[in-house]
Amino acid sequence: MNTVTFKQANIKFDDLREAVGRSDCISESTEVIKDHSHDSKDPEEVAKILSWAQKAKVPVTPWGLGSSVVGGPLAVQGGISLDTTKLDRVIDIDTENMHVTVEAGINGGILEDQLQSLGLTLNHSPQSLYRSTVGGWLATRATGQFSSRYGGIEDLCVGFKAVLADGTKVTVGGSPRMAVGPDLRHILIGSEGCLGVITEVTLRLFRIAECRKFQTVTFPDVTSGVTAMRQIMVSGLSPFLLRFYDLAEARHAMKDAAFSSPVMFLGSEGSKNFSNSEMSELLEVCNKNSGVDIGSDGAESWMKRRFDFSTIENVLKTPGGVAETIEVANNWSGISGTYDALTKALKPFADEVLGHFSHAYTDGVSLYVILLGQAESPKDAELQFEQIWKVANRAVLDSGAVLSHHHGTGLARTQHVNEALGSSWGLYSRLKKVIDPSGILNPGKLGL
Ligand SMILES: Cc1cc2nc3c(=O)[nH]c(=O)nc-3n(C[C@H](O)[C@H](O)[C@H](O)COP(=O)(O)OP(=O)(O)OC[C@H]3O[C@@H](n4cnc5c(N)ncnc54)[C@H](O)[C@@H]3O)c2cc1C
Repeated sequence: MNTVTFKQANIKFDDLREAVGRSDCISESTEVIKDHSHDSKDPEEVAKILSWAQKAKVPVTPWGLGSSVVGGPLAVQGGISLDTTKLDRVIDIDTENMHVTVEAGINGGILEDQLQSLGLTLNHSPQSLYRSTVGGWLATRATGQFSSRYGGIEDLCVGFKAVLADGTKVTVGGSPRMAVGPDLRHILIGSEGCLGVITEVTLRLFRIAECRKFQTVTFPDVTSGVTAMRQIMVSGLSPFLLRFYDLAEARHAMKDAAFSSPVMFLGSEGSKNFSNSEMSELLEVCNKNSGVDIGSDGAESWMKRRFDFSTIENVLKTPGGVAETIEVANNWSGISGTYDALTKALKPFADEVLGHFSHAYTDGVSLYVILLGQAESPKDAELQFEQIWKVANRAVLDSGAVLSHHHGTGLARTQHVNEALGSSWGLYSRLKKVIDPSGILNPGKLGL
C-alpha cells in the first residue's frame, strides 16, 4: 500500500505517521503525489490510516492503477490518495476449489500471465487487463471481453477482505453460495472506493479451454446483427466471444478503411467437439438473420490486439484531440433506441462516432460508443469533454438505458447517479451514511 497525501485537507502529518506506526509510507512531496511511488506491503496499515483519517476527518481516495476512464480515483477534495499497488502478492492458488486469492493491488495482467503458465485462467479479460488492479475491478464492477459466457467480476468474485471507513476489517463471502441474509459482497462491488478499501480478493479459476474456434460474420445493418445477438443468447448458446460492430467501428475492428458492412466476431471454446458444434449453431443463427460468414481471420486478429487502445491514445496525444468512450446497457427492446439516440446526440462533437455491442445477456446487451474528434485547442477540447458527458448522460437516461455498464460513474456521471438509481437512491445514501458517517471515502463520487 502506498500513501500519498494532498496538503489541501490540512493534514497533520506527524499525527498520521504516529497512527500508522511508521513514516516511510507517507509522503508530503509533490513529486510523490504526482507519481504514487511509495512502498509498503501491509493491509494492516490501511486499517490504521482509515481509522486515523476518520477521526481527523481527512478524505481518503483509493487508487489502483488509475485506469478509470471516468475520473474515479481522482482525489477531488484532497486528503489521502491511497495507492494500493504494493499490495501485490498472490496468496493462494487452490486448484481443488478453483479459487485464487490475491492482494487487491496486484496488476490483473501479471496475475493472468502467472495463472496461464499453470494452465489456468481468470476468464476476466478487460481491455485494460495489464493496466488495472484486481481491487479496481471489484470497486468499479468491471467486466471483460469474455463476459457473455463467464459474466462480470461480480460473478467471478468469490469473496474479499476490506477495511471500512473507521478502520474496521471485514471478510465477506468465500463460499460457492450462501443464503445467510443478503449477499454482502454486492455492497462493496461497484462501490468505487466510497464504502471501503478492498485489500484481498478471492476469484474463481478456470482451466484454459482445450480448443477455441473463431468466425467473422458480416450483417447488412445494425438491426440484423443485434437481432442475431439476441437470438444467440436466448437460445442458450454461450459463446465466450460475441461482439458486433456498426459500420463505422467495423472499419477500425477489421483494420480496413474500405470495409463495407457491420461485422460480428464470434468465439466458442471448450472441447474440440463442443466448440465445433457450438460454432455451427452460432453461424446458423447468424445466417437466419442475413449474416455472411467471411472466415476466422477478422476475429482471430482482433483477439491478438485486443488490449490495444492506440486509436484512442493517439487522438488524446494530439493537442486538442478529443476521444471518449461511453458504455451503457439496455434491454433488447430498448437498445436500438439507445444506439440511435446516443450516436445522434454525439455526432456534433466528433469526426467519427463508432459503436459496438458486447457483453450480451438473455435480456439485453451493452452498447459502447467511441468518439474521435479534434478541437481547436486543448482548452476547447476540455470544454467539449464536459459537453459530451452532459449530452451523453442525458441521451442515455432519456432512452431508458443504464448510465454505465462497466466503467462506473466516477466524476463523469456522478451528477446523474441520484436520477439513475431512482427510488433506490435512498437505500444507497443511507448505506453510505452508516458505513462512512464522516463521508471521508472518495468524496464527490457516486452522487454524493
Ligand atoms: C484502455 C482501457 C481499457 C479499459 N477496458 C475496460 C474493460 O474492458 N472493462 C472494464 O470494466 N473497464 C475497462 N476500463 C476501465 C478501467 O480499467 C476499470 O474501471 C478498472 O477496473 C479500474 O481498475 P484500476 O485498478 O485502474 O482502478 P482505478 O482506476 O485506480 O480506480 C477506479 C475506482 O476504484 C476505486 N478503487 C481502486 N482500487 C480500490 C480498492 N482496492 N478498494 C476500493 N476502491 C478501489 C478508486 O477509488 C476508483 O474510484 C478500461 C480502461 C482503459 C484505460
